[in-house]
Amino acid sequence: MRDLMLVLRSTRRELQAYNLKQINQIQMYSKYDITTAKWGNVSKVKQYHLAILPWGSTEPHNRHLPYCTDMLTVQAIAFEVAEAAAKQGVNVMVLPGIPLGSQNPGQIQLPFCIHATQQTQMCVLRDVVNSLKHQGINKLLIMSGHGGNIFKGMIRDLAMEEPSFTICHNEWFAFIPRAGFFEEKDDDHAGEQETSVMLHYYPELVDMKLAGEGKFKRFAIEGLNKKVAWAPRDWAKTTQDTGVGNPLKATAAKGAAYMKAVLPQIVKFVVDFAKKKDLYD
Ligand SMILES: [Zn+2]
Repeated sequence: MRDLMLVLRSTRRELQAYNLKQINQIQMYSKYDITTAKWGNVSKVKQYHLAILPWGSTEPHNRHLPYCTDMLTVQAIAFEVAEAAAKQGVNVMVLPGIPLGSQNPGQIQLPFCIHATQQTQMCVLRDVVNSLKHQGINKLLIMSGHGGNIFKGMIRDLAMEEPSFTICHNEWFAFIPRAGFFEEKDDDHAGEQETSVMLHYYPELVDMKLAGEGKFKRFAIEGLNKKVAWAPRDWAKTTQDTGVGNPLKATAAKGAAYMKAVLPQIVKFVVDFAKKKDLYD
């Protein structure tokens, strides 16, 4: 009985600490996060230079990461970027994260995996652009956390429709090589890189006890593995635990080191993007 009381008391303490951390974080970023921002504060800002749109997916991430990992990571990154940009005089607002991604055959049968078609994604993006342009905000950075989301075609279409509106997009995991930061060579989905970054930002949302090894099967056609040609992978035939790449060597420290390299580059891009009149001047 006494042991039970001790366990309950320490669980309550952990929960209180967790809630406090969450509340602190929400308050810290409420200037840049439209989800919690108030009009009373937003209306005092003379000019917002650009908006960031975090875009993820809703899909299983091995057995140990949340379904909406791709959106959670880009949200966390976007808040840090917005805060760092503000210190350089650039006002950025982070829009609500979009958890609607493109999925592969073999994934859609997994419970609660949601496939959003290109048309749906285009409708969402067009509505965001059409709204922002009424507000004098004509620059948007889509920060994608999901490799299956392909924005280039949509951005080109919108460049024709709205020539005075500029959209860029990036993928936090793709522009700095993993080598030197992570040990696993094959790491594509819910592996060492993504798990490390989640352990860095959201340790309480990762359950390493559930993690599978992320073993995967390659295509039987060599050219597809060598990227001579592309076809979507059939997830049911590719992986058993929905992961592609082993997450077991992931640590929060590796995630922190990687983000320390990634973040300044995104911040610099955002400041340049905000301050330049157009992409060529
Ligand atoms: Zn992911």
